[in-house]
Amino acid sequence: MKLRAWLNSNRKVFLDRDLSYLLRNLPGFDKLRGDFREDVFLNKTRLKRLEEIKRLYAEGMPAAYIIYKEEFFGLEFEVNPQVLIPRKETELIVEKAIEIIRDKHLSRVLDLGCGCGNIAISIKKFLKAKVTVFASDLSFNGLRVAKKNLIRHNLDVKLVNSDLLMSFKKKTFDLIVSNPPYVEKRFIRGSLGYEPRLALNAKDKGMFFIKKILKQGYSCLKKDGFIIIEIGYNHKKLLDSFIKELGFYDLLEWIKDYSGHWRGVLLKKNEGRGATRDEE
Ligand code: GLN
Repeated sequence: MKLRAWLNSNRKVFLDRDLSYLLRNLPGFDKLRGDFREDVFLNKTRLKRLEEIKRLYAEGMPAAYIIYKEEFFGLEFEVNPQVLIPRKETELIVEKAIEIIRDKHLSRVLDLGCGCGNIAISIKKFLKAKVTVFASDLSFNGLRVAKKNLIRHNLDVKLVNSDLLMSFKKKTFDLIVSNPPYVEKRFIRGSLGYEPRLALNAKDKGMFFIKKILKQGYSCLKKDGFIIIEIGYNHKKLLDSFIKELGFYDLLEWIKDYSGHWRGVLLKKNEGRGATRDEE
């Protein structure tokens, strides 16, 4: 059977742009790259793969997991269902990180909860020798994917297995960047159901890890260090009062995403009041 015949009977299963995106990105279909040729003969392997893709797509699996990759910050990252799919809005977090590293001449940076490594790798790729980048995750599966992406981009980022900041010494970093799990259980449905719970879900109105990172982060930051953290669309107010309660960060800037939601915050460590610090 030719691809054309298969497309004619299966086109309706897909949105047009999804179908061409999937076909252009399928391993084994490389020869069809660019404008895929509809007169290409489908051998058994290709036909089987197409049928499998149709099934996964129809079930609702995100395209990134079907083709095992996603683009982020102009770079290509390998992903699989063990890691979160990098999102456009996180690019704004990376942009802010690069800006502050450049402006303040920061040298030691941590991507906390790195997943496939997209934040750490994007920062390292753009700043090269100017920064030492660490990327940590609780999940070994995540670290394995991050390692593959490091090799793919030929970059030196130090991978560390760590439960939040537990593995790091005091005063280690100039900047901690994190996209932690912050989605409440009730919002995890549809395509989010394919992504790892560990990377998405947080108790306490989605604030559990955000709060922990801010508490633990204080002691791991050097004097005048910074934190950039991604947050949920409904977290700004809650976080604002939490930061005031902690008293040991100056709030420098809220970061808005492309849909107009407050998606992140830039904080600077100050001398604080000391008493409430959680140096677990
Ligand atoms: N940005 C993702 C979403 O809202 C969630 C990522 C996360 O929990 N860190 O779908």
